[in-house]
Amino acid sequence: MPGKITLSAWPTPVEPMPRLAAALGLDADDLWIKRDDLMGLGGGGNKVRKLEWTVGEALEAGADTLVTVGAAQSNHARLTAAAGARLGLGTVLVFPGKEPEAGSGTGNLVLDGLFGARVVWAGDAEPAELAGAAEDVCVQLRREGARPHLIPFGGSSATGARGYVEGGEELRTQLPDAAHVVVALGSGGTMAGLVAALGEERVLGVHCGAVTEPAAIVADLAGAVARRAVAPEALRIRTDQVGAGYATLHEPVLEAMRTAAATEGIALDPTYTGRAMAGLVAAVRDGGIRRGERTVFLHTGGLPGLFGHAEAVRRSVAALRPYERS
Ligand SMILES: *Cc1c(COP(=O)(O)O)cnc(C)c1O
Repeated sequence: MPGKITLSAWPTPVEPMPRLAAALGLDADDLWIKRDDLMGLGGGGNKVRKLEWTVGEALEAGADTLVTVGAAQSNHARLTAAAGARLGLGTVLVFPGKEPEAGSGTGNLVLDGLFGARVVWAGDAEPAELAGAAEDVCVQLRREGARPHLIPFGGSSATGARGYVEGGEELRTQLPDAAHVVVALGSGGTMAGLVAALGEERVLGVHCGAVTEPAAIVADLAGAVARRAVAPEALRIRTDQVGAGYATLHEPVLEAMRTAAATEGIALDPTYTGRAMAGLVAAVRDGGIRRGERTVFLHTGGLPGLFGHAEAVRRSVAALRPYERS
């Protein structure tokens, strides 16, 4: 396949989650998890599939430096830095806000540093609106003789979304009768690729509050990769797990994280996968997902983000129970 590179071993495994299924009132065989958190690069996660295509595109264009944008706890930025390290390319990450106080950077930033990324703190801006600042960084890099290549927010170009057309096809081979594939919706490329591969009816996206028009974004990307019209209204998207906003800890999300962890030993993060799981729980409650329908939870990674989320860290540590002798 022209342009594509390999950054991990495939396929990722699928596993049943019988104890979580029972906790939600489903049959033991109803609920499965696809482990796109288990990959051979940089701690893994859904961004690896997209980077196989977007970094492939960068190499074809002769780039020697990857530039991308995101929130400071961006898993996409971390994995771009890891891909850069693996391929011997430079990486520059453009983040909103300002440099964290000495000693206060956590989570993904720890790994960004280890992977050798350089960082530009762009001040006041939404993560999704950093493209202008990133273009400026590219201009500057060219002036210095580098050959930069800009990968968009979340790696969600039509090129990046092809990684999840493949992910969806892989899943269809593993679990052909899946009626619901539940996935966190951030920048949209993951859901878009899945919709292109599996159809609008089977994919349930749980909006995480990272973008303002999730349905329009996913429909555009899905249409571009599937080469057919995809209507925003035809998409299944839940918007009930954003809570007070992308960076906040939504109470049902923490509850869903605890349930998945306590029943299956599966760790989720408060920004993406915890929201997706809370959306799955809500869908079971309101009848969107019913007993006897095979449901796949796509684990998209993101664990470092848990350690970069002060409130989730505090609440989780506070839940440690003392052992008391009887
Ligand atoms: C980025 C991300 C998502 C969302 O994927 P998009 O393609 O941006 O919609 C989900 N989970 C995790 C852990 C992520 O890092």
